[in-house]
Amino acid sequence: MTSVYLDYNATTPLRPSVKTALVSLLNEVGNPSSIHQHGRTSRKHLEKTRQILSTVFGCGPHEVTFTSGATEANNQILRGFEGTVIMSAIEHSSVRNVRSDARICPVDKNGVLDLESLDRLLSEIEWPVLVAVMFANNETGVVQPLTDVISLVKKREKAWVHCDVVQGLGKITTDFRTLGADTYSLSGHKIGGPSGSGAMIHKEGFPLKPLIGGGGQERFMRSGTPNILGIVGLGIALEDCFKDNWKDIERLRNKMEADIKAICPHATIFGASVHRLPNTSCFTMPGVRNDTQAINFDLAKISLSAGSACSSGTVKPSSVLLAMGVSEEEALSAIRVSLGWETTQKEIEIFIDQWAKIYHRCRNEGEQKQ
Ligand code: PLP
Repeated sequence: MTSVYLDYNATTPLRPSVKTALVSLLNEVGNPSSIHQHGRTSRKHLEKTRQILSTVFGCGPHEVTFTSGATEANNQILRGFEGTVIMSAIEHSSVRNVRSDARICPVDKNGVLDLESLDRLLSEIEWPVLVAVMFANNETGVVQPLTDVISLVKKREKAWVHCDVVQGLGKITTDFRTLGADTYSLSGHKIGGPSGSGAMIHKEGFPLKPLIGGGGQERFMRSGTPNILGIVGLGIALEDCFKDNWKDIERLRNKMEADIKAICPHATIFGASVHRLPNTSCFTMPGVRNDTQAINFDLAKISLSAGSACSSGTVKPSSVLLAMGVSEEEALSAIRVSLGWETTQKEIEIFIDQWAKIYHRCRNEGEQKQ
């Protein structure tokens, strides 16, 4: 049985270009803080990648700090902020769980941030304020109205916008040089780079504080010897992710959704009527719990996401779907399929074939128990 990987929003395969560069780098030694030739070579790698990020985000090299990933970047940006934090109700846990004092801005039934509520919240709170809204949601793929968010927030002084761009990079044509957020977080392993690599962009004037102290690397913003392999891999992946052909992947995703609806017209596809990432699909299998689906897909060697298990091992309903007004029962029948640049039509056909089998089998079993 061929195995099928449909969980690109969880992590992605290493790009061949990244692999080649890293294999060659494995033969090098050098700490970028050392002043000898080996250290200087290592520093060159670091600064070359910083330049790639500066070009993509239209910022100075001093506005780029390398981290261990987006979780660390989100933590650093949010934890150190002294003032009111407003965040969307659908932020990733690395944003959502780090500021328990945050004011939550609701989303509509399609998972799009409600701008009127944001405006109201902004008129109620104390300054300064940091508003965190992700570029696109990791579960539904729904793209957020960032330009509108930024213009609402920027009407005020001492108001900053943080944008987690982890899932959006390369998949949607966006000019990050002119988007206008103050801070961004990104992650290497979501774009074909190595795990444990990431960065934050913090435009001048943003009150960034260090999370990790020590040797003062990264202009005292992130102490610790930089992860050169991860950083170089991140840079190459970032350059390459803008060359992917997402149009074909989007067609494949849309065909998959049409096939699901043909098998089961009652299946709900979340966010289908609004702007979404071309690779992401979140939909229900009516009457079949997502943990049951996950086991069955895994037995069929298909990897996808069926939500996260809590400490007792049971899958909780997705907080993103609940924030969209979806009932617990429906949320518990939803799975996420996320395609990538290597996904083929054949793999989607295998998935659809299994989806139909699991649906009919589990429905029949359910009916017999009644
Ligand atoms: N933000 C979003 C939207 C994500 O999807 C993820 C990972 O799932 C993260 C942040 C965390 O990224 P990392 O794995 O680099 O810590």
